Amino acid sequence: MLDMTDVSMIYPGNHVALKNINCHIGSGEFVFIVGPSGAGKSTFIKLLFREIVPTTGTILLDGQNIPALTRKEIPFMRRKLGIIFQDFRLLPDRTVYDNIAFAMQVIESPHRLIKRRVMNVLDLVGLRRRAYAHPNELSGGEQQRIAIARAIVNRPKLVIADEPTGNLDPDTSRDIMDIFQEINEDGTTIIMATHDKEIVDSMSKRVIAIDHGEIVRDELNGVYGYEPEQ
Ligand code: ADP
Repeated sequence: MLDMTDVSMIYPGNHVALKNINCHIGSGEFVFIVGPSGAGKSTFIKLLFREIVPTTGTILLDGQNIPALTRKEIPFMRRKLGIIFQDFRLLPDRTVYDNIAFAMQVIESPHRLIKRRVMNVLDLVGLRRRAYAHPNELSGGEQQRIAIARAIVNRPKLVIADEPTGNLDPDTSRDIMDIFQEINEDGTTIIMATHDKEIVDSMSKRVIAIDHGEIVRDELNGVYGYEPEQ
């Protein structure tokens, strides 16, 4: 699914965010990217959806070299991914239904298919009854569930998430992780950057730890492995 070879990211001003990253993530894996603040986690995630281009290295995602894509190819590549952020990023002036349907409308899916799929993903995240609410009528946990529904409505092979529980309380975070677990059990690969020690320790997944831009640990059934910052 993902092969990174000799990837380095040096931001302007000589800020080295990632140094010589080599890693392979197979189809169907569930991987946490952990590390202290400033370690390079967000940079790692941003490279995957071509928010940024690495200074050196190749990033093969489902057979495509992401850094080499042309500007025109980028939106097509992104449509094959589900992307979830800490701050949900829902469109405030649209209903829940429209927020999710939008991702299918842009690829011109037929109206009936859109309706069926939107309702299916709303069932999966337990929020069918809120289909016609607006995001500001929902709690943070509900908004994140909608963001997840939107991310998976086009059935991506890979879902990437940057601190998806960063704004949520522990109980809500656990509910959100149950949804990710279900999505992964359906065969979707998940790569998630997180600070959430409790979640990482409770899920027993592969953990890739980054520190000062380097992979310092990569283990199956891993743990968070260091004291979280307050
Ligand atoms: P994390 O997500 O682990 O907190 P980041 O990937 O955001 O880490 O940042 C890694 C390093 O790169 C940090 O030292 C940060 O200051 C630096 N950095 C991140 N974004 C930029 C940028 N746009 N310009 C310059 N330096 C950056």
